[in-house]
Amino acid sequence: MNHIYMLVILFGALALVACNGTEDTLSTGSDITSTSSEDTTDENNNATTTQIGLNPDYFFDSALSEPIETTACTLTDGTETLCYEIVISGVPSNNEIGPFCPTHIDDDATQGGVWFDGSGELYQLDGAFIVYTKTLYGDDWQLYDETTGEVFVTDTQIACEAAARPNVDPEYQNHCVECAIEYYGGGVAQKFLIPASPIPLSTPEQVGADLGVALNGVVIAGPAPVSAILAANTIAAFDDCGGHINPAEGYHYHAALGCSNIITTLDGHANLLGYALDGYGIYAMLNSEGEEDYDLDECRGHSDDSRGYHYHAASAAENMFIGCYQGAQGSVEIVQ
Ligand SMILES: [Zn+2]
Ligand SMILES: [Zn+2]
Repeated sequence: MNHIYMLVILFGALALVACNGTEDTLSTGSDITSTSSEDTTDENNNATTTQIGLNPDYFFDSALSEPIETTACTLTDGTETLCYEIVISGVPSNNEIGPFCPTHIDDDATQGGVWFDGSGELYQLDGAFIVYTKTLYGDDWQLYDETTGEVFVTDTQIACEAAARPNVDPEYQNHCVECAIEYYGGGVAQKFLIPASPIPLSTPEQVGADLGVALNGVVIAGPAPVSAILAANTIAAFDDCGGHINPAEGYHYHAALGCSNIITTLDGHANLLGYALDGYGIYAMLNSEGEEDYDLDECRGHSDDSRGYHYHAASAAENMFIGCYQGAQGSVEIVQ
């Protein structure tokens, strides 16, 4: 390796440390797997099946309303154990929310977010896609004014709430639906109780509306109800991070698009992005080679010696993070 190359790497590393600032908890390049794997070998140095739980240090400090504490909790299977209490403020700590809907059919991809309907495609939500919905979903789709090219967007709180409810107000059919976080106090605070040591289940369980929390303080939700959304000739736009806002939950993710993959690993494994309610880590879909693991179970999980059991997020086009829970779950509730 020549010296110039080494200098570039050195300055790159320094710049990274400088950019990351001091406020947030970030990996500065040390191999995080070494800190979390200390109890994964027995005295003969053989791998054991130790369950490795949540590491509170991996969360951005500014993602949290208060420091993470431990508290007694009862899991969904009745287990009484110790949980981490994680209170999020309801906004991502590391990036802006939005944009969601384009406002004109000439808008480019930077002026809108993304859309996925679970059919295997991830669509850039630009003006052209708004026009394309007629071809994609049917002749009764008309998301824009044909005279002016303006997109029909739910741009008031009344409109967003009438369109975001299960039985969409007919007045807001044929709309691109978005809500603003300002309608909900700038963010919906939520409290998670997540077991400090995961308790494996004998039979996997279905994920619910909210299934976990990302390291940047965003709720990880289950699949978006795209069939109901499409049935009302609406699109519930996601931003480029795979998140959107609804009145009940505030801002939440329906897809992993890289905005919360904060903790990097040096062993080539995919990056950690958050934790499921059962305490198992959720990692990005792809490893450092850009490949997906081939040995994932129905919940999208597998085990290794460094991480124990953990999940890998699905692609955004699949409208999901994980397939099910392999552990007994804690809980999530809105902080009043
Ligand atoms: Zn949603
Ligand atoms: Zn893995």
